[in-house]
Amino acid sequence: MELTEAQFQRYARHLILDEVGEAGQARLMAARVLVVGAGGLGSPLLLYLAAAGVGTLGVIDDDTVDLSNLQRQIVHPTSAIGALKVESAEATLKALNPEVRVERHAVRLGPANLDAMVGAYDLVADGSDNFDTRYLLNDACFRLGKTLVAASLAPFDGQLSTFKPYLGPPHPCYRCLFREPPPPDLVPRCETAGILGAVAGVMGTLQAVEVLKELLGLGESLSGTLLLYDALRTDFQRIRIPRDPLCPTCGSTHR
Ligand SMILES: [Zn+2]
Repeated sequence: MELTEAQFQRYARHLILDEVGEAGQARLMAARVLVVGAGGLGSPLLLYLAAAGVGTLGVIDDDTVDLSNLQRQIVHPTSAIGALKVESAEATLKALNPEVRVERHAVRLGPANLDAMVGAYDLVADGSDNFDTRYLLNDACFRLGKTLVAASLAPFDGQLSTFKPYLGPPHPCYRCLFREPPPPDLVPRCETAGILGAVAGVMGTLQAVEVLKELLGLGESLSGTLLLYDALRTDFQRIRIPRDPLCPTCGSTHR
């Protein structure tokens, strides 16, 4: 792939890195990443992936932009209130980097569209806000051999990990970590629970870094490690996630 003069300038700070260079930039430009949720996590994630020149970004979100979203969902401007989030996100991303292709999916992920959606991309980044989607994505990514970079938020905390259980042991999946979803009444959602907006920014940005690392094959993968961010104590912790041989998704007895 030959870079144009404009691309040389736009990506100059990538190209000058030995770890990225022209070959790495070409890899990013050829990559197809599916971002699930154009909300608090999806906003910084999409912005940084578009800025980095990831060639195709699929965006799944069936929601519309609400005034109360704007405190943290920074891909959406005030003028987009009432518009579909996928359309609002596309407009912002195109303004940032017109070279990026945005594929809009204004649908809810479910068993009927899951495999077609996940199968059409190289990597999936989960920024959804519900457990149903998280488990669906985990199982589909394992089945279809796709890397999953998943983050989640609490009012002043965040979690992040990368899952590549299709590579076999020792790589765990999300279900090795949390076997069952918690009961629904124990799960306050962002819209009702409240969140310090910038915490979503930290986690979505960390998620973007891990996506770019996976696409470029850079550094150490977060697979097998859960990263915890505590904003009030300004503390990061890393916890080992062992692969569970009895896991209903990736356990050997279930394959
Ligand atoms: Zn598992």
